[in-house]
Amino acid sequence: MDYQAILNIIEKELESFEDEGKVADYIPELAFVPSDKFGMHLHCIDGGDYSFGNSDEKFSIQSISKVFSLALAKKHGSKIWKRVDVEPSGDPFNSLTQLEKEKGIPRNPFINAGALVIADILVSCLDNPKKDLLDFVRLIAQDDDIHYDEKVASSEKKHGYRNIALVNYMKALGNINNDVDDILDFYFYQCSISMSCHQLAKAFMIFANEGRIMGTEEKAIKSNSTKRINAIMQTCGFYDEAGEFSFRVGLPGKSGVGGGIVAIHPHQYAVAVWSPLLNEKGNSEKGMRALEELTTLTGLSIF
Ligand code: GLU
Repeated sequence: MDYQAILNIIEKELESFEDEGKVADYIPELAFVPSDKFGMHLHCIDGGDYSFGNSDEKFSIQSISKVFSLALAKKHGSKIWKRVDVEPSGDPFNSLTQLEKEKGIPRNPFINAGALVIADILVSCLDNPKKDLLDFVRLIAQDDDIHYDEKVASSEKKHGYRNIALVNYMKALGNINNDVDDILDFYFYQCSISMSCHQLAKAFMIFANEGRIMGTEEKAIKSNSTKRINAIMQTCGFYDEAGEFSFRVGLPGKSGVGGGIVAIHPHQYAVAVWSPLLNEKGNSEKGMRALEELTTLTGLSIF
């Protein structure tokens, strides 16, 4: 497959795309990102790299980090599924409304409530949660040039009222064990990780390749964990637009309000795209279009 030729077509086709989305500004620091950034990187199982545009520029990965934290929690063998469900929520990612009905058990680990429970689990089982998470991401990406963005973390800390409400509410309902400030601090930092499309595509190869780290023989997580995490990406990776993403793109993936989307084709490739303008559900509008074009032009999706 000539992936570079396909990416070139996508870049050209979307050059004149009339993007009506908006940059996320509820985290003020994200509003400073130029809205015309656009890049894409595909990393193939045979080691091939294909890209265009701003694919080497770092951006705030935000919710994409929830896949890394879930993988790290699984790696530590934590018992997760009694405390977090695996059902699509059908509600916005920061919704509080389902928690009361569900007795403090979030619908899945990719909405904010679920990611906060995973953060609680990691704060319990890791010696140095922030360092250990960053080390894990660097290991699977095979790249030490990955860092937290202090400005983004503190910007979100100052304005993260809904996350503060979520974690306190779950504490009241008995599903949070640690100090809420420790969990929030870890969570805001995990969301602030800055990575390029290139780095994201390489890191996500563990999910496309049964847990194996690209270019090594090492398994970062068990293949059974990748099966489960991929299933949750497919059903819950796009806020309350997971059905639409499955319908249009047909790959497991995860988006973030920084405008990034990563998707994998098991045993084939991992691909990341970045365009900061978001649709009303919080997904990158142009990013979704680019991935739809990718599976259309290659004629390959998991369906
Ligand atoms: N840090 C963001 C929040 O908690 C992540 C949201 C996202 O990317 O979906 O609101």
